[in-house]
This record gives sequence, structure tokens and C-alpha cells, in this order.
Amino acid sequence: MDRSDFSHLSFEFFPPKTPRETRNLLRTASRLAEYEPDFYSVTHGAGGSAREGTLETVRMLHEHGYNAIPHVTWGSDTRHDMVALLRKYEEIGVSDMVVLRGDIGKEGLSDTPFRYAHELVSLIRDEMGQRFRLHVGCYPEMHPEAASISDDISRLKEKVDAGADTCITQYFYNPDAYRAFVDSCLEAGINKPILPGVMPIANFQKLVQFSEKCGAEIPRWLMMQLRSREHDSEQLRMFGMDVVANLCRRLLADGALGIHVYTLNLARPTQAFLGRLLNT
Ligand code: FAD
Repeated sequence: MDRSDFSHLSFEFFPPKTPRETRNLLRTASRLAEYEPDFYSVTHGAGGSAREGTLETVRMLHEHGYNAIPHVTWGSDTRHDMVALLRKYEEIGVSDMVVLRGDIGKEGLSDTPFRYAHELVSLIRDEMGQRFRLHVGCYPEMHPEAASISDDISRLKEKVDAGADTCITQYFYNPDAYRAFVDSCLEAGINKPILPGVMPIANFQKLVQFSEKCGAEIPRWLMMQLRSREHDSEQLRMFGMDVVANLCRRLLADGALGIHVYTLNLARPTQAFLGRLLNT
């Protein structure tokens, strides 16, 4: 397998907070550039965290010659604030955006007239036409707040009908969940690419915490295997690298056009599984 087997490859970062984190992110971006990603995306307030830094990080990555794109989320922005932000991204030369409702922090839904991501997709299409390619989030194991998987898929269809070009999934470790989800989306008339989001496995505790927060399932067999290597980081990394490489191999064989990697700003775990995948 080689890079040409992927029609799409992208890497997700979060905005660095200190000069040291900024240097590390630039090092990561430089190391991952060898895979010729379609873009680096930069989160916005993910996990209910601060919403500052996305614009500056996208700008900085552009200045270093990388195709960086922002995640945009509502937060407490008004329509006016949002249009001003879109214009700034247009000035930088941004090509795409990942459009989301956003994680809800401890304070709950903010005082905004907008509640769902499809409204933001509509706003961007109304204000900016086809200026940006738009990606939206989707959930093969169902969004934790959704009434049912079929309701969640109907909501995804609203985002696609509002103008989304592709859907990027939450991460998962069960390829059957992806396959069933893609089939259900096709049945529901969603005919846009559904790119699997992939989380490398590097740190057991962090993975468990993230997965609880975002409703991603770690299958029991995988949980047991990881737990048995919890205190041997090298063993855990080697095992995790194989699990994620095998997952990607299966997803690509099942028709996925490529993958979006949640890098957590680290190059090594991503290089490890991609190295294993591309050497087969
Ligand atoms: P929506 O599509 O608005 O859906 C949210 C919930 O509401 C779902 O349960 C849906 O079924 C339901 N729903 C939708 N429309 C309606 C309706 N009309 N009536 C009733 N119910 C409805 N979060 C961040 O804060 N920052 C980020 O940078 C970020 N990046 C992400 C990147 C990816 C690829 C993914 C998959 C997620 C990301 N997230 C991020 C997390 C995301 O913001 C959360 O999962 C959030 O809870 C939902 O966002 P959404 O855009 O999918 O919301």
C-alpha cells in the first residue's frame, strides 16, 4: 500500500498555548508533511477548552507553507461575529473548514441564537457561497446526545443538504460500526464521502478519558489488551500501532477514500501506524 491508495489524508491539531508547544507543533507539522496531507485542521474550543488560538495557528501554519484549515464552532458568536471571522479566513487564503456545533462546556449551551451545526453550514453558504469546502462531523457509534442512530443520520443529512461537502467521523475502533453507518447514510440519501477519523493509540489513560468524554467505544477485547500493556509504554505503542494500521487497512478495503488523523499534536504515534500501513 502507498500514499496513492488514499484519495484523502488529513491531520488534526489543537492550538498550542505556549512558545514551546508552538515549536513542537511546527516540528510535528514538518514531520507529517512527508505524507503529503490534503490539509492540517486546527480545532476550536474542543473538549470545552478555550476558543482562542485557532485563527493564529491557522495563520502561522500558512506562513510556514502548510495548507491549514480551521474548525469553526458557534460558541457565543453572533451572526455578525461569525461573518467577520469567515472574512479573516478568506484573507488568509483558507480553502476548507470543519464546521461544528462545538463541544458544550460546563456552562451548558451558550446564549446564542444558533444551536446546531447545520445552521452554521447554511450561514457559511449564504454569506460566502462556494468559497470554502465544508466538512462536518458525524458519529458511526451515534452522537451521545442523539435520540437514535436514525435520528442522528437524519440530522447529518440536514448538514449535507445545507451544503457540506464531506463528513468526518468521530474516532472508533470497530470497522463494522463504520460500514453499517456508511450503508445507513447511503440509504438515507447522503451521497458525500464519509472519511473515518482515526485516533492513534499512545497513552492508555488519556485514551480512556477522551473516549468517555466523546462517546467513542473502546471494544472490550481492545480495552483488555491495552490494559495488560498499560505499564509498558513501548509494548502499548507497538500493539496500538498494529491495531490502528489494521483498522485503516480494513476501512480502506471497505471503500473509505482516506483518513483524518486526530494527532493530538504528536508526530510519532501517527508516523508509527502510517509507517506500518504504508509498508504493506
Ligand atoms: P450537530 O450536528 O449540531 O449535532 C449535535 C447533536 O444535536 C446531535 O446529537 C444531533 O443528532 C442533534 N441535532 C442536530 N440537529 C438537530 C435538530 N435540528 N434538532 C434536534 N437535534 C438535532 N468540538 C469542538 O468544540 N471543537 C472542535 O474543533 C471539534 N472538532 C471536531 C472534529 C470532528 C471531525 C468531530 C467529529 C467532532 C469535533 N468536535 C469539536 C466535537 C463536536 O463539536 C461535538 O461532537 C458536538 O457535541 C457536536 O457537534 P456537531 O457539529 O456534530 O453537532
